[in-house]
Amino acid sequence: MKNTPFQNYLSNLEKAVSILGLSKEESDILRKPANTIEKKIKVDFEEGEKELNAYRVQFNNARGPYKGGIRFHEDADIDEVKALSAAMAIKCAVVNIPFGGAKGGVQFNPKHMSKHDIEKVARAFARAFANDIGIDKDIPAPDVYTNPSIMAIMLDEYEKTVGRSEPGVITGKPIELGGSLGRDSATAQGGAYVLAEFINTIFPKKKDLTVAVQGFGNAGSNVAKILHCMGYTIVAVSDSKGGVYSSQGIDPEHAIKVKHEKDDLTHMYCEGTVCDLEKLERDNAKIIKNGDIITMDCDILIPAALDGQIHKGNAKDVKAKIILELANGPTTPEADEILRDKGVTIIPDVLANAGGVTTSYFEWTQNRNGFYWTEEEVQERLKLIMVKAFTAVWKMSKEKGISLRNAAFALGVDRIIQASRLRGKV
Ligand code: NAD
Repeated sequence: MKNTPFQNYLSNLEKAVSILGLSKEESDILRKPANTIEKKIKVDFEEGEKELNAYRVQFNNARGPYKGGIRFHEDADIDEVKALSAAMAIKCAVVNIPFGGAKGGVQFNPKHMSKHDIEKVARAFARAFANDIGIDKDIPAPDVYTNPSIMAIMLDEYEKTVGRSEPGVITGKPIELGGSLGRDSATAQGGAYVLAEFINTIFPKKKDLTVAVQGFGNAGSNVAKILHCMGYTIVAVSDSKGGVYSSQGIDPEHAIKVKHEKDDLTHMYCEGTVCDLEKLERDNAKIIKNGDIITMDCDILIPAALDGQIHKGNAKDVKAKIILELANGPTTPEADEILRDKGVTIIPDVLANAGGVTTSYFEWTQNRNGFYWTEEEVQERLKLIMVKAFTAVWKMSKEKGISLRNAAFALGVDRIIQASRLRGKV
């Protein structure tokens, strides 16, 4: 039977516990969340009232307030949200920012729903969880199918409920409401800094690297754009409807425009089932099915959609030599082992996608001070943190002869346990 996302987290945790030689008492702190808050929220939709499952899982706050995004997705069940909250705690420790880990979710399908109805869900969530979050307590942010506008609505409803202004309670806000410059592309930019550092360490002379990106939302479209500007060739992009491969390379700006206008990447070449064969041939391109991108011919594969996309069924056919995990939990533990045996290097999610939460930390810091940084300052600080985290993970991986995933987990777990020891909790 398929492991749940939380079982996958526990499997990574056990490896870190054994690498660090932790006792059961110490590691038990990271085996279950500190608080699991489950509520039913009533939403008065245009089509009538509905009750939705909503969650906030506060995993660990030994290093600082709970921190993590809110996901609007039909699969966002309690197990998934729990796994994502645990990953947030590890991630914040890997990049050494003063936050713990949390995650939220509302289980429903926002696709094809009106903006107005989605806003009602955002307001209902903020009202229901107003006592559970706070600038020094638990700070939400966007995740899959939530965005800066939804954060703005949540901030508005939260401030109305608690009766005070508190912009730092939520990050990933629009700039006009105290968001940070650079937050929008921060996850992708952070991943690009780590990837560049890795390539520089391993193949400093290598040029003309090809990249395939699964998922074309915030993380995926921005990473395609950034890597294209850095000289990588983007050979494939996909979203939930399907995708496109072109050995000549895809212009991410054009893909973004098509996605924006038609909400379907295949429209770069086709209108429904009618395709421009001449254009396809000229670009040496083809339309691909949603799952096919995982096994595309490329040097670097970037999963930037949902979890569990690289699994034991497709891992053996992966052609990329490097996987940069911008999505959370895209590789199952079984796939991890298959890929290790094939010599594929995985730059794990808790390091690769930590640029988002790092810039959220910058936003929170700026909100607290009421003083705002330039985009250059944000980029400079982000680069510093991401490169330092990569170097620490790389060093541990080499010293202990372990994978980057095991090293990142061990580094994060070690920092959380050290903080817990100092608090006299273990
Ligand atoms: P998003 O909602 O902006 O985009 C998600 C994209 O994935 C969409 O293009 C959607 O069409 C696509 N998708 C969904 N199912 C798919 C499938 N089966 N195959 C291919 N594509 C599919 O979300 P996002 O913010 O870009 O997040 C993507 C991933 O990155 C998630 O795992 C998220 O947890 C992780 N992440 C995001 C951030 C951030 O700051 N946005 C930070 C850290 C991690």
